[in-house]
Amino acid sequence: MFSHAEGLSSMVVKVAINGYGTIGKRVADAIDAQDDMEIVGVTKTRPSFGCDLAVRKGFPLYCTFDTDEKIAAFAPAGYDCKGGLSDLLAIADIVVDCSPGKVGAQNKEIYDNAGIKHIFQGGEKHAMTGMSYTSSGNHSENMNVQGTRVVSCNTTGLSRTLVPLLHACGSLSVECTMIRRAADPGDSSKGPINAIKPVLKVPSHHGPDVMTVRPEISINSLAVAVPTTIMHVHAIVATLPEGHGMTTESVLALWSEQPRVLIMNGSETGITTTAEVMEFSRDIGRKWGDLHEIFVWEDGVKLDGNNLYYFQAIHQESDVIPENVDAIRALMGLESDWKASVLKTDEAIAAYNGL
Ligand code: NAD
Repeated sequence: MFSHAEGLSSMVVKVAINGYGTIGKRVADAIDAQDDMEIVGVTKTRPSFGCDLAVRKGFPLYCTFDTDEKIAAFAPAGYDCKGGLSDLLAIADIVVDCSPGKVGAQNKEIYDNAGIKHIFQGGEKHAMTGMSYTSSGNHSENMNVQGTRVVSCNTTGLSRTLVPLLHACGSLSVECTMIRRAADPGDSSKGPINAIKPVLKVPSHHGPDVMTVRPEISINSLAVAVPTTIMHVHAIVATLPEGHGMTTESVLALWSEQPRVLIMNGSETGITTTAEVMEFSRDIGRKWGDLHEIFVWEDGVKLDGNNLYYFQAIHQESDVIPENVDAIRALMGLESDWKASVLKTDEAIAAYNGL
């Protein structure tokens, strides 16, 4: 284990990924791109096609469970399983838990018993760790803590555009509707496939979840799931305080200075739907066709009096990925300046992908 006496700048953090699915495989790649952290192992519950990717990447493969029978099941399928979760945690400085939502509580007990730092994902509740994280929202408050939760893709997206507005205006009251993809492209069992499904728990958790990273933002949300797999869209009305001094143009200028916010004009570019946004991200060569940035349509932004109206699109499988890298730097005390971490993370990912 790392000792602070060894010096932070020379440290390469050893990271375990528990749960190598949609989020886990992307976080592992993003970490592999960095020079101040390395993957020491990833877990799979059983030998399945996801193991092939770990083998191709050269990530040591571990079993999610410690039982001999489950560990032994990998060898007949041709996979070299190095051991169970406890073996992996023993050689790691921090674990990024990318297990399915609501599995976290049982895993947290294991991490607490092992005394290892841990990062959960947005499928878990804030109360479980008592800390949540977004890079722009509360990086410094997460410095050196034992555990945190990188908030969901929707909450991350809201935080990217609302936190700079909060800082510029001093206060903010927000109503928003989350138009959510029904399932990830790799999920064959979820729906709806021919319906619009309102979330009947009102308000939905997405808006209020922003307050776990910036409690000063007063925010509520509604959510509906629609039959698409590729992105979420947010329709947002943010009420700025009296005397805010902002214009539509100054809001756009503010966002254009923010990392991981991409502003494009729909009518000028022809990118008018989430389908074209995704085609654009495939064109620029991002792995898996990912888009880590939040996409804001310039011509969909309008400040009318105190009310700011805008749409933004969220690539649900990838906006949280670089945030996990920044969260590792915060928990391990490697970098206290969130913008410096974001720059390092994003440059390393771009170089890794040859972009
Ligand atoms: P996933 O189902 O694609 O992957 C989860 C992986 O964890 C699978 O490989 C599964 O076999 C494995 N697993 C199962 N039980 C486990 C256990 N007990 N311990 C460890 N691993 C276990 O799920 P995902 O989409 O990658 O979601 C992971 C987390 O990220 C969830 O909290 C989710 O809410 C959150 N998240 C998902 C998205 C998204 O769009 N997929 C976006 C943001 C956040």
